[in-house]
Amino acid sequence: MNSVQPSAEAVAIKNDRIMKVGTNTEISSLIGKATEVINLQGKTVVPGLTDSHIHVGDFSKFLTWLNLNDADSIKAVQQEIKERVQKIPKGRWIIGSGWNHANFAEQRYLNFQDLDEVSQDNPVILYHQCGRVCVVNSKALESAGVTKATVSPSGGTIEKDPETGETTGILQENATDLVWTIIPEPSEEEIIESAGLACQKIVEAGLTSIHWIFTSATELTVIQKLQEENRLPIRVYLIAPANILDKLDASTIDSDNEMEKPLGIKVFVDGSLAARTAALNEPYVDDQTTTGQLLYSREELNTLVTRAHKGNLRLVIHAMGDKAISMALDAIEKALREVPRKDHRYRIEHASVLNYDLIRRIKELGVIVSVQPKCVISEFAVWSAVERLGSKRARLLYPLKTLINAGIRIIGGSDCPMEPLSPLQGIQAAVTRQYYPEEQITVDEALEMYTTNPAYSSFEDSTKGSIAEGKLADLTVLSDDPRSVPSNEIGDITVDLTLVGGKIVYQK
Ligand SMILES: [Zn+2]
Repeated sequence: MNSVQPSAEAVAIKNDRIMKVGTNTEISSLIGKATEVINLQGKTVVPGLTDSHIHVGDFSKFLTWLNLNDADSIKAVQQEIKERVQKIPKGRWIIGSGWNHANFAEQRYLNFQDLDEVSQDNPVILYHQCGRVCVVNSKALESAGVTKATVSPSGGTIEKDPETGETTGILQENATDLVWTIIPEPSEEEIIESAGLACQKIVEAGLTSIHWIFTSATELTVIQKLQEENRLPIRVYLIAPANILDKLDASTIDSDNEMEKPLGIKVFVDGSLAARTAALNEPYVDDQTTTGQLLYSREELNTLVTRAHKGNLRLVIHAMGDKAISMALDAIEKALREVPRKDHRYRIEHASVLNYDLIRRIKELGVIVSVQPKCVISEFAVWSAVERLGSKRARLLYPLKTLINAGIRIIGGSDCPMEPLSPLQGIQAAVTRQYYPEEQITVDEALEMYTTNPAYSSFEDSTKGSIAEGKLADLTVLSDDPRSVPSNEIGDITVDLTLVGGKIVYQK
């Protein structure tokens, strides 16, 4: 990713920096008594990868769930619960998902007795693979106040034994909320534990930096605590929810010093295409009654964006529909007119439904586009973007090649846990997309989305993003070269080693 020196044989690291990049002979001459030499046997080293869009809080929560996808019997499910009960304090909730009675040797649904046998003191809720049915134990029913006498809510069923009238522990559709909604938010200690699990997965995926989108004050406290105690193995760039603006005092916001607040501010202008809430100029083709939903009026958005801009916060604007993108660009343009700033590096998240006029404006305003390539595939494959938008609009849905040709910078992310974490799978998706394949990009362009471009977007391009002398020694070692394996196998490349600041944070 360094155009001056596109490839090299060896790298010398001193402290947390890259000292020299060159041939084996050149680098060998620097080996001293205390030097640790790692022979990579011809494997590929790329700059440490960055995920520019990840919800670590949700990902962490999800990692603490019991994964029951492979459970082939009720006994196996009970064993999983038993092991969990031994590890956690009494009273803490056990949440799981993925069971399917069709896979069970017993060929029947789980019931509350099955769960009670292994957990009397910990409430348990386990979602069926379909996601619309769950089973809970007596402790969970008790916590939710669900008894024999409780009437099923509308749109849902509390299953009851036809003979005794007792609840079976199975809740269907809206009845699942009776228990789901009373599960307490995790404590600070629980969040710290699960964030540790998430960081482990993140370094395993070859990531050395993440743009961590957090949602609550508790989550921020946890991140700061982990940072202070030096417990984060990766570099974190924080993106805060817009409502944090109200909590920061005016003096903090109005300071002129850019470097004081390396903080992204996430503003949601609209919803999603999947839910038909992305705000469009013209109605959805598969539901002519709606054009989606704007979360701000034009006035409100302008005020918010200008306020963040004047406060030197870095705008990260979620806008999926063409109408929302247009409003976001208007707001940025207006703020820049009031207080001109050349190097703002503001970004639009997703920027899904584009047209040539919007693309021209994005380029002119110097806005960065943040795309999650696995989501691009989902928009076409999980539901049909073509049916939803019509072929004219679908043609310019995430048009990565067109954006690059227009001179726009794109940054890549996962949107994990909605999509898999792996940046290599993201690169494969961007390189091999089958929907409007004219928008496929090259492996190098995809690598830029995960290296140089995100470093630029967070104003860290002088220290990160490429393997160059003087930069931080953040490196990812891959089993194979993504440029030489067949493009549909890039996602299968394994991460062998992850280094952050010259330290090994993951080794396969
Ligand atoms: Zn997201």
